Amino acid sequence: MNKYKFDAIFWDIDDTLLDFESEENYSFKKCFSMFGLGEASEDLVESYKQINKKYWSFLSLGEMTKEEILVERFNEFFKKYNMHVDSKAFNYAYLTNLGIKIRFNDNSYAILKDLKNKIKQYALTDGTMLHKKNQLKNAKLYEVLDGIFISEEIGSCKPNKDFFDYVLNSIPKFDLDRILIVGDGLKTDILGGNNAGIKTCYFNPRHKKVNENVKIDYQIDSLNKIYDILNGN
Ligand SMILES: [Mg+2]
Repeated sequence: MNKYKFDAIFWDIDDTLLDFESEENYSFKKCFSMFGLGEASEDLVESYKQINKKYWSFLSLGEMTKEEILVERFNEFFKKYNMHVDSKAFNYAYLTNLGIKIRFNDNSYAILKDLKNKIKQYALTDGTMLHKKNQLKNAKLYEVLDGIFISEEIGSCKPNKDFFDYVLNSIPKFDLDRILIVGDGLKTDILGGNNAGIKTCYFNPRHKKVNENVKIDYQIDSLNKIYDILNGN
């Protein structure tokens, strides 16, 4: 047993370790001009994000497949603005341009590096391989983590128990209450942690109100506060 309160951390990547919004903004704007649509205003980017969020919730509820949501989100967006664009082609371009502009939240890379060899650290991420391939390479996450689990490779996603079962069966055995999942997604990371029977830490930098019926063991607004949790403070 190590000196910390936990033996393993399951990190979420998008909007936890990494600032996914900056990847999203970069790729959306780039593709917008690539497809001859001019410059994407902030309002358009925001509108796309709202639609995108709605579709990802369909996925976590099991109402649509990943393939469907990826294209349908752009179908709905382009229809809303009466733009005639091939959504499938746009989605492909969009995914290949995500993961190019990487920004770490807080000093997450230094934290991962510091905790390396002191505690086991794994990343659990939903998202597509096209995106993850660029993102993980550019962020050099393989160098500081003990493993990375990508939902598309596993064939299930957060918050499903079978996704977590797959992860737990792939790593050394730890007591479930000595595993902590850290993430910004209540319906994915926190609910998934509850389903798996591990401890949960909600990363909530903007102090959003919690409206979901989930069990949150810890809440932090800065990733540095992970040390307080690990030290049992
Ligand atoms: Mg996230």
